[in-house]
Amino acid sequence: MTIPEKIVIIGAGQAGGQACFSLRQLGYEGSITLVGDEPVLPYQRPPLSKAYMMGELSEDRLFLKPAAWYEDNNVDVILSMRALSIDRVEKKVHLEHGGELEYDALILATGSRPRPLPLKGASLKGVHDLRSITDVERIKTSMVAGRQLVVIGAGYIGLEAAAVARKMGLSVIVLERADRVLSRVTSVVMSEFFANEHQSQGVDIKTDVIAQEILGKNDQVNAVRMSNSEVIKADIVLAGIGILPNDELAKEARIACENGIIVNSETCTDDPSIFAIGDCAERPLVHYDRRGGLESVHNAIEQGKIVAATLLKKPTPKADCPWFWSDQYDLKLQIAGLSS
Ligand code: FAD
Repeated sequence: MTIPEKIVIIGAGQAGGQACFSLRQLGYEGSITLVGDEPVLPYQRPPLSKAYMMGELSEDRLFLKPAAWYEDNNVDVILSMRALSIDRVEKKVHLEHGGELEYDALILATGSRPRPLPLKGASLKGVHDLRSITDVERIKTSMVAGRQLVVIGAGYIGLEAAAVARKMGLSVIVLERADRVLSRVTSVVMSEFFANEHQSQGVDIKTDVIAQEILGKNDQVNAVRMSNSEVIKADIVLAGIGILPNDELAKEARIACENGIIVNSETCTDDPSIFAIGDCAERPLVHYDRRGGLESVHNAIEQGKIVAATLLKKPTPKADCPWFWSDQYDLKLQIAGLSS
């Protein structure tokens, strides 16, 4: 493939934003169009379950670059707009409301979405998941001191939100089906350390339990029934049970997908004009001799840089070891590598 004249990026998040920045940084002068279905410019999500939820960070501090950067660098940004389908023969993306965009190279940076709670009552008012600024705004209004928050899932997001809620004076119960917190991402020793920290901060952590039903009155949540039949009061429920990659556009266009859009180490899919980066991609994990998805800022940035270098025929940066972080209370957990 020659250097493309028109690059279209679907998904205006961490990875899509980084692809724009890296393309211009590497001297690309062709057309870049960035399409996102959220109403705002690319922003960082980590503070959503940390300082931003706590009210310690203003919204403008979330954005990766100010609006002027996109204007100054001649990036066409189309917000509040969903890409509906890809025509690989005509090399076009069809947008909501009937618009279409032609591309020479298409970058899918569609991210992921929270795995929906497969429970009766999950659509009651007061039951939340957490992915976007809009979600946090909704949750924040009900985070009132004295209320009881039930968190389903003791992963990073659930535990970070639990820590924020405790600081805000809510009582917090965390339900986890595994026998320990953070079981998917860290060792038994670290799990115990974090469980102890939460308990000392007053969080009630219940492991080996499955939330079975969300109960409510007048369409509003008021309790959660667990697998042991115990019913616990809940003014708010927050689900953090993992994510699903947004790979539907690719699947519908018959691009190879498994647990995400399959890409090679240059971020290219099985269509040489289409690339996928960030949470939506299933990439080679060179340090582990297998493929997999990585849900992290580090991965989104790394792949944004790699796709830009690939498209501009520059040397691609060497793949780093995956790394992650999590802030809970005054602790910062940093993990290099994948836990298994
Ligand atoms: P996103 O940032 O999700 O961007 C994808 C964008 O594409 C979204 O705006 C989406 O709405 C849009 N989109 C999807 N489909 C379409 C379509 N068809 N048309 C148009 N637009 C579309 N990572 C860490 O490393 N450390 C942390 O501490 C950490 N904390 C986190 C806390 C929270 C609350 C969350 C939600 C995530 C956290 N992460 C953290 C994960 C990290 O934020 C993600 O891995 C990262 O945002 C992935 O970037 P992305 O660009 O792939 O996806």
